[in-house]
Amino acid sequence: MPEQETVDPIAPMAVAFDAARPRMSRRLFARRTSTWLLAGGAVTVLAACGTSNAASKDDVAALRKEVAALKRAGAEEGAAADAHGAAAKPGEKAAAAHDAKHWEYEGATGPEKWGELAPENAVCSSGATQSPIDIGGTQAGAGGRTNIKWQPAPLNVQNNGHTIQADVANGGAIEVDGVPYTLVQFHFHAPSEHTVGGKRFAMETHFVHKSAKGELAVVGVLHEAGKDNEALAPIWAGLPKSTEEKKALPNFDLATVLPKDRAMYRYAGSLTTPPCTEGVRWQVMQVPTSVSEAQVKAFNAIIKPNARPVQPQKARDVLKDAIYKLLPPA
Ligand SMILES: [Zn+2]
Repeated sequence: MPEQETVDPIAPMAVAFDAARPRMSRRLFARRTSTWLLAGGAVTVLAACGTSNAASKDDVAALRKEVAALKRAGAEEGAAADAHGAAAKPGEKAAAAHDAKHWEYEGATGPEKWGELAPENAVCSSGATQSPIDIGGTQAGAGGRTNIKWQPAPLNVQNNGHTIQADVANGGAIEVDGVPYTLVQFHFHAPSEHTVGGKRFAMETHFVHKSAKGELAVVGVLHEAGKDNEALAPIWAGLPKSTEEKKALPNFDLATVLPKDRAMYRYAGSLTTPPCTEGVRWQVMQVPTSVSEAQVKAFNAIIKPNARPVQPQKARDVLKDAIYKLLPPA
C-alpha cells in the first residue's frame, strides 16, 4: 500500500483511479473521489484499493482539473451524486469504489441478494430497521415536530440508472424536532415503496435531507393514480432518457409537490437502496397526491419499476404525527 502521509491528495486518487479502471468512467470516479475528499476519505481510498500502480501525468492533471471543478460545485454535489449514497461514511464510499457489482430490482442482483453483493451492503439483509415498510398500525405521535422550510430553487435533473434524481443546491431545509436537515436531492419510485395497510401507490417521491452531522431525513410523498401531477410536469417535460443526459430547471417550486394536508407518518428506517444504511428519519405524508397513468408510463419507459419490497417492521413504532407546519424560508 502506498504511504499514507502523502501531502498531495490528487496523486493517490490517480492511483486509485488506475485500480478502479475500467470498471467505472473517469468522470464517475472523479465525482466519487471528490465526495470522499470532501468527506476527508482520500486516505481510505488508498487503503481500500491497495495498489501501487503508477499513474500518468496526464491522468493526474485531468483528475486534478475535474476534482477542482467538482469541488467548486460544492459539497452537496457529492452528497447528491448518488440517489441514496449520501449517508455512507467515507470508508463505505471507498469500498464502493471497489464494488463493480451491479444491483438491480430483479433477478440475480435483485433486492433479495443486495446484502450479499458487497460487504458494505450486509445491513440490507441483516438490518433491523430497514425501509420501506408497510405502514399499518400507527400510534399518535407524542411530541415531535417537523417544519418544512423549502424555497423555490434551480434543479439539476439526472438519470442515475436507478431513478430520475433532481439535485437541489439551495432549496432550503426541514427541521425535525429542532434539528435542521438541508435538502440535497429528490427522486422518484414507481410504483411506491411504502405501502399503507397493504395498499401500494402508483408512485412515490423522496426528498432527501442531510444534517450537519451527515444524518439523513427523508420526506416521502405518495402519489395515487389519477389526474396529471402538475407540480411535477416541468420535470416530466424533459426526463433524462440516459445517464449521459441532464436537464437543468432554473426555478422549481418544491412545496407544490406536497399535499395540502401535511400530516405525516414518522418512523426510523434506512436507505431503500444499497448500502441500505440505517439511521434515516422517515416522514411519509399521510395524504397522497395524484399522478397520471401517462406520467407513470413515461417514467417506467426510462426507469423500470424501482420499488424495494417492504421490509419487516420488527420492534419499530410508526407515529402518526398530526403536527406539521409549512413555514416560509428563514
Ligand atoms: Zn428513494
